[in-house]
Amino acid sequence: MDLKLKDKVFIVTGGAKGIGEAITLELVKEGAIPVIVGRSNGVAKQLAAGIRAGGNRCLVITIELGLEDVCKSIIDKTIAEFGQIDGIVNNAGTNDGVGLIEGSPEQFKNSVLANLTHYYDLVHYGMEHLKVTKGAIVNISSKTALTGQGGTSGYAASKGAQLALTREWAVELAPHGIRVNAVVPAEVMTPQYEKWINSFDDSERSLAEITKRIPLAKRMTTSEEIASMTLFLLSDRSSHTTGQWVFVDGGYVHLDRAIT
Ligand code: NAP
Repeated sequence: MDLKLKDKVFIVTGGAKGIGEAITLELVKEGAIPVIVGRSNGVAKQLAAGIRAGGNRCLVITIELGLEDVCKSIIDKTIAEFGQIDGIVNNAGTNDGVGLIEGSPEQFKNSVLANLTHYYDLVHYGMEHLKVTKGAIVNISSKTALTGQGGTSGYAASKGAQLALTREWAVELAPHGIRVNAVVPAEVMTPQYEKWINSFDDSERSLAEITKRIPLAKRMTTSEEIASMTLFLLSDRSSHTTGQWVFVDGGYVHLDRAIT
C-alpha cells in the first residue's frame, strides 16, 4: 500500500531511539522527511548520517523538551529548513517513577512538564502550518493511562491526559481537516524498557512473567509494529479516522490476561 507520504515533513519527538527511531526509519522508507527531535545528540546525528547516506533528507533538533518553552523554536527551524509541516508525532516521554507515596508535589509537577506539556506546545505552535497542509497528529500514549502501573503518578497522569487531548483536539481541529489520533503501546522492547527491566534482580524471569501475559503470541510488541500504525494514521489512507485510541499491544489492555 502506497501511503503517499513522499516528501512530506513530519516532526517526531524522541525520534532517535526506541519507538521514535522506528517511526523515523519507516518514514524514510516511505520517502518522507523526518525532523528528529530529542536530547540524545550523538545517537540522533548517527541516525541522520545513515539517512542522508541513503540519499534521504532529515533534520536533527537537539533539545530538552518540557521544562522550558522550546517548541516554537522546533517549528521555526522546521519551517526554515523545509517550508512545511505535514504532521507531528508526539512521542518523547519517560516512565520516571514519580509515585504517590514515593514522590513529592514538586516531582509530580516536573514529571507532568517532562511528559505532557510539550505535546500541547508543539501542536499549538505548529497549528498555522498544519492548517495549510491539513496535517495529521499522532500522540503516543501508554497502557498505563488505562490500566495504571503503581508508583508512577506523573507519567500515568500525562499519558491519560494525552488520550483526553486526542479527543479534544480531534473535535477542535475537525473543521480544519486536521486529524488527531493516539497509539497506545503496552510492552515494547526499547532502550527505556530495557533499562527498566534490567533494574529487577531477576530481569530474565520478570520479562518472561510479563510476556506470558500478552495474549497474542506471548511476545512483546515491536517498535516497528507501533511505527506501522503511526504511519497509517499520519497518511491519507486513514483519511476518515480521527479521535481514536488505537491499541497496538497484542491484546494486552482489552483481552483477558488471566487466560494463559
Ligand atoms: P526511549 O527508548 O527512552 O526513547 C525515547 C526517546 O525520547 C529517547 O531518545 C529520549 O531521550 C527522548 N526523550 C524522552 N524525554 C525527552 C525530553 N523531555 N526531551 C527530549 N527528548 C526526550 O522510549 P520508548 O520506550 O521508545 O518510548 C517512546 C514513547 O512510547 C514514550 O512516550 C513512552 O511513554 C511510550 N510507551 C512506551 C512503551 C514501551 O513499552 N517501551 C509502552 C507504553 C508507552 P534519552 O535517551 O536522552 O532519554
